[in-house]
Amino acid sequence: MFAADLGVLDRHVGLEGRVITPLRRRDSLILAESVSALAGEPPITRQAYHVSAGANEPPLHRVVIHTAECDCAPGAATGIGNYFAQASSGGSAQYGVDPDAEGHYVHEAAIAWHAPPNQFSIGVEIAGRAAFTSAQWASAPVQAALTRAAARTADLCHRYGLPVVWLSAADLLAGRRGITGHVCVSRAWHQTDHTDPGPNFPVVAFLQLVQAYLHAIPAPHPAPHPPAPRPGNTLVQALQRAAHVAATGHWDRASDVAFARLRDTHPASGATAVRALQRQVGVTADGIWGPITDRAVHGAIVALQKALHQVADGIWGPHTQAAFAVARAKLYLRSVVRRR
Ligand SMILES: [Zn+2]
Repeated sequence: MFAADLGVLDRHVGLEGRVITPLRRRDSLILAESVSALAGEPPITRQAYHVSAGANEPPLHRVVIHTAECDCAPGAATGIGNYFAQASSGGSAQYGVDPDAEGHYVHEAAIAWHAPPNQFSIGVEIAGRAAFTSAQWASAPVQAALTRAAARTADLCHRYGLPVVWLSAADLLAGRRGITGHVCVSRAWHQTDHTDPGPNFPVVAFLQLVQAYLHAIPAPHPAPHPPAPRPGNTLVQALQRAAHVAATGHWDRASDVAFARLRDTHPASGATAVRALQRQVGVTADGIWGPITDRAVHGAIVALQKALHQVADGIWGPHTQAAFAVARAKLYLRSVVRRR
């Protein structure tokens, strides 16, 4: 069944292999296998032979939907994988779906040969044909494959922050991110003349399916319950206030980012941060980090360490995340003071 369609599939992806020559052809199975899986990526089911040199790293621009130009029947995803695994295939894509299964042929971080320019895109091959009528797209097996493709597309949109919008050729040329068909990539850049997934591909229904899956995906990191503030955390709170983030007393990623921003964009605000810290530790708030401030901060750290039942050596070592962050903030403040 599938073997009979292989010739058509060959033409479909083989053409991509030929017109892809602007990309470097330092492509091999070794290169393809050298790329490792990204977080959340499913395991490879059958490694495709062809990938391009270079990285397909975030931010990704688009998911490109294809029809594999084969019957939409069980076993097609395996057949697509078997085909892509050959050196003679001249094409590849990250994913393929049929009514029963999904194949994963190229790591997401690798550049597959599916709709040039291929970098920053993920190709999803649906077992089916660009010539399908609306009735054929609505048939049960094709709907099942479409559902699989939508689930994978939702997962990709979720993990790469891609909006669930269908991109026209103009959108693509304008640099917009989202979901598109091979036909739109062809019209945008004219590197292939492929028209898949075809004029009757149910774009609206597909996007609705993707949205439905996206809503069903749980948040990856549910907000942790904030721990109760400890008495010694006023020092951290002072630093957080200086960096204009919520003074929770717990040094978190937001605090880190805020301090980095302060450092990069408003070095003078460092003095303000020092003043806030000085007020917190009870010394003259002149904004200059000198020996008096140093001693006072040391004392505050000792007090904080005692409050946290740690070794009260005044050296805020790498024992806790908060400790690490305070030491880092202190180093940062020192660097600001030196620059003045
Ligand atoms: Zn295609």
